[in-house]
Amino acid sequence: PVVTRFAPSPTGFLHIGGARTALFNWLYARHHGGRFLLRIEDTDRARSTQPAIDAILDGMRWLGLDWDGEAVFQFTRADRHAEVARQLLASGHAYRCYLTQEELAAMRAAAQAEKRPFKVVSPWRDADPASTPDLPYVVRLKAEQTGATRIADRVQGDVTVQNAEIDDFVLLRSDGTPTYMLAVVVDDHDMGVTHVIRGDDHLNNAFRQLGILRAMGWPEPVYAHVPLIHGADGAKLSKRHGALGVEAYRDEMGVLPEALSNYLLRLGWGHGDAELIGRDQATQWFTLEAIGRSPSRFDTKKLENLNGQYIRMADDTRLAALTALRLGRSDPASMAQIEAAMPALKPRAANLNELADATAFLWAKRPLTLDDAAAGLLTADGRALLAAAHASLDALPTWDTEALETAVREVAEQTGAKLGAVAQPLRAALTGRKTSPGIFDVLVLLGREESLGRIADQMA
Ligand code: GLU
Repeated sequence: PVVTRFAPSPTGFLHIGGARTALFNWLYARHHGGRFLLRIEDTDRARSTQPAIDAILDGMRWLGLDWDGEAVFQFTRADRHAEVARQLLASGHAYRCYLTQEELAAMRAAAQAEKRPFKVVSPWRDADPASTPDLPYVVRLKAEQTGATRIADRVQGDVTVQNAEIDDFVLLRSDGTPTYMLAVVVDDHDMGVTHVIRGDDHLNNAFRQLGILRAMGWPEPVYAHVPLIHGADGAKLSKRHGALGVEAYRDEMGVLPEALSNYLLRLGWGHGDAELIGRDQATQWFTLEAIGRSPSRFDTKKLENLNGQYIRMADDTRLAALTALRLGRSDPASMAQIEAAMPALKPRAANLNELADATAFLWAKRPLTLDDAAAGLLTADGRALLAAAHASLDALPTWDTEALETAVREVAEQTGAKLGAVAQPLRAALTGRKTSPGIFDVLVLLGREESLGRIADQMA
């Protein structure tokens, strides 16, 4: 059975690249009817605060990336990590190294002076374990020095590293705490992880991690190292390209989770030229082989476009609730108003902020303050057209889209103006803006009394 995992370090938010890694792991597990596990790598005690952990859990829930079982907290497993280090010492696959900071610094300086890459070669590697000093030590892996290690990576293809390039890295620090390298291997093994799908910034680590696995005689997982996300300029995604945390897309940019999820899926994975891919379809289609080998570029425009499409597909009640939340208008009356307006609002919105902003005309108080563009529409001609429209609308026995449309068309015919020439000043008077939902929708949503009042406020 397939077991995947997402192993984020809590750094304050759920990184957008991490979210994609989580999604790929989730999809792979679900596609194969396997398990998707979550491990919080919280060994950096200074950074691993509860808010930082909550940000990850919230972000995953929001994206619908449910994990199986309880989340595993790496720090709680430190004793188990140390136990494995002791086993490796006992089996002769690891050794106690008493090199001091000064000795290591001298080695590093010597390598630099000779312009060769620095690699720790510890004199303690082959020392007799029975005759070691009573001094602080670290535990190092006795890394294989001859031959080569090959990884058949499911994304990167075959990657080979000469073992001579891999040093005797540290497993346990001198204070007895495990290193990240050791913790990951032990946890993946104990959690039964079969497929390690993660960013390709960890590919080098995989060779070291294999060293530990082989020394323990543990089965090797399948590796799939996914190229990182880059910014529009091709450089590794960083703060200057925009938001890195998933919550900013949710809270600040008003992106729907299904849109972000679809966008992240397409960022580095493809199925023909399909763009709009829902979660079920993605689960059915997902394979590691279809992950691209080159870094993908984050394209905010594309995300906005996809988000607009998902807004148009989303349920009106749900959108109304999300919009109400952004507006701080969650009372039932406002909610009902927003929901009634939703069919007219959503064709034009690329995000929830635009949706919220587009409701402004619903709450505007008479007499409206017009923005400059709208005020510019109310020329003498415009005001005269408003007066004509007012007379015609006022005479209507019913206030529905059909009747309103007929009446406004008649005004256009009678005055010899184009429909748009009547609609624009009406829009300005009714909403205070030059752009808004369709004018007949606006009239219906505002109702007879309010509409006629707003028109009267602005007419000649
Ligand atoms: N905690 C690591 C990170 O956040 C991931 C480790 C792994 O996936 O093996 O980058």
